[in-house]
Amino acid sequence: MMKVVDTHAHLQMKHFENDREEIIERFEKDGILYVINVGINIEDSQLSVEFSNKYSKIFASVGVHPHESKDTPKGYLEVLEKLSKNQKVVAIGEIGLDYFRNFSPKEIQQKVFTEQLLLAKELELPVIIHIRDAYEDAFNILESFGPFEKGGVIHSFSADSDWALKFVKLGFFLGIGGPVTYKKNEVLREVVRMVGENNIITETDCPYLPPQIFRGKRNEPAYVKYVVEKINDIIGYDVSEILVKNASELFGVNV
Ligand SMILES: [Zn+2]
Repeated sequence: MMKVVDTHAHLQMKHFENDREEIIERFEKDGILYVINVGINIEDSQLSVEFSNKYSKIFASVGVHPHESKDTPKGYLEVLEKLSKNQKVVAIGEIGLDYFRNFSPKEIQQKVFTEQLLLAKELELPVIIHIRDAYEDAFNILESFGPFEKGGVIHSFSADSDWALKFVKLGFFLGIGGPVTYKKNEVLREVVRMVGENNIITETDCPYLPPQIFRGKRNEPAYVKYVVEKINDIIGYDVSEILVKNASELFGVNV
């Protein structure tokens, strides 16, 4: 059985409240070595850490998503720092910029993003970055506050090959998930072809972004194998071990 990892899940979300245990059993049986459960705000990050302490194959990331940045409580950086001391916490994220929905004003998104980038540097943790319709601003911020010695991932990468190369050159992995299987997404397949297996890690972003065969349904960690199969197809041989190695080195996880 192919061994794979899901570096971006939200199993703490309410979408999983009725069958979370089954879903966790299923991914363990299906060859998913481990899952990184990503926080989107303070409360959600706390929950993510709680779950990671309950299940051996779940790790946690803590951070404030750009959508949530306008509601960050005072002292949130101290809370994140405290949470990060838990031994199952492997990254700061998801953090970033999202101008597609602009649920928070741009200036606040940029401030909260920058503050958390600096925190990650101070804590010597990698970063999980969310960017939507804001590649230029995000790149400029990352370039000016870098280098990030512990590295990071541009999660659910959704720009073209030119941007892909720029972020890879800055030292980031690209997070590839369900969208690479979508019929019309030739642009993302071209990105995978061009950056190659050494610059990619795999993810689901579940409950969102299921692979093509489950579109319209809830996504879950076990489905990450469809993403790996597609990446193998694009590259032309089995790169699953390399994809696991990339993730494990980035997040310092040994399973
Ligand atoms: Zn996410």
